[in-house]
Amino acid sequence: MPKIQSVSVCVARVALDNVTSFATRTVSARDYCLVKLRSTQGVEGIGFCYAGSAGGNIAKAAVEELLAKKLLGQESLRVEGLWQDMYQESLLQGRAGSVMRAVGILDIALWDLNARAAGLPLHLYLGANVTDKVPAYASGGYYLPGKTPKKLGDEMASYVAAGFKAVKMKVGRLSPKEEEVRIRAAREAVGPEVHLMLDANNAWSDVPTALRYLKSYEPYDPYWIEEPFGPDEIDMHGRLAELTPVIVATGEIACGRWYHKELLDKRGAEILQTDACVCGGITEWKRIAATAASYGVTMCPHWFHDVHAPLVAATPNARYVEFFPDDQVLNFRRLIDRQLPHKNGEIILHRTPGLGFSFNEKSVKKYALTPARPWTVIN
Ligand SMILES: [Mg+2]
Repeated sequence: MPKIQSVSVCVARVALDNVTSFATRTVSARDYCLVKLRSTQGVEGIGFCYAGSAGGNIAKAAVEELLAKKLLGQESLRVEGLWQDMYQESLLQGRAGSVMRAVGILDIALWDLNARAAGLPLHLYLGANVTDKVPAYASGGYYLPGKTPKKLGDEMASYVAAGFKAVKMKVGRLSPKEEEVRIRAAREAVGPEVHLMLDANNAWSDVPTALRYLKSYEPYDPYWIEEPFGPDEIDMHGRLAELTPVIVATGEIACGRWYHKELLDKRGAEILQTDACVCGGITEWKRIAATAASYGVTMCPHWFHDVHAPLVAATPNARYVEFFPDDQVLNFRRLIDRQLPHKNGEIILHRTPGLGFSFNEKSVKKYALTPARPWTVIN
């Protein structure tokens, strides 16, 4: 049985080419915490997460000081047990936020390692629902200086021209009137058949305000309204869902199966956007998706199509993968050595063992917070 021989961890900070905004935040750089697990058989599995505009070192410290020691010398196939050991070890510091992200990236690396050792692409190793491709939506529509509604419409139309049948844009930063002009431009640009998702990124602080905005959005047939409130406002999500005909979607910064159970009990979302790099890894994501299936709720996981395409492929109650057509907002693709192709709005799944890509070590060195020694190796 292969055992875990070493854990390597790194923080890479990748600046955005253009400072970019959404409803509640403006982003100039992204921190990614990266891990590599090496087995006694010489196989390597990788994991990664977005750790915020800054603060990647918090997740790295959790790997170094709390979690790596729970994995070293352990059998890599004991995935459920190792998840429980890491969760238990970080009970006082973790359960959400950066420490749960650290648990998640190590769990992802375990799945990747085991799938690579088995010689199977991750979606087949997970027991695929589909084997060749998964539907994706193009994600964009951010707020940039000088970006007029016309330019926003042109951007959305370019995704449809590239084959996507669903597109997403940001909302909630401007007044309801200004927002309506943007959404109308987007709808007119993509036509009536395309799914148009709206992402509010925790824009509103109460249900009446959210309803006021949504009233101005409704004529343009939004497919969903995403993250109307902060993630802990579970009751408000449930109340809003009762009062608007628009589907409420949320979950991208939600952790753990218990939080998701409460959200489902209160009917706060018909679509869960749970992110495996946030919620506690692939192990926890699978539990959450299985519970969601019992509620008739659909999974559309949040960004990082590189890890979510195989999860959507292995999950019957999953619909879309979120896909960023370029590296302007989600610039993680600069750190890896292979990109998944898409065609007709679908991501084509690969047949390479595990996640099917590795870190591009040259890029990692370039963007690492400590370029002289990008990786801290624990063994
Ligand atoms: Mg979002």
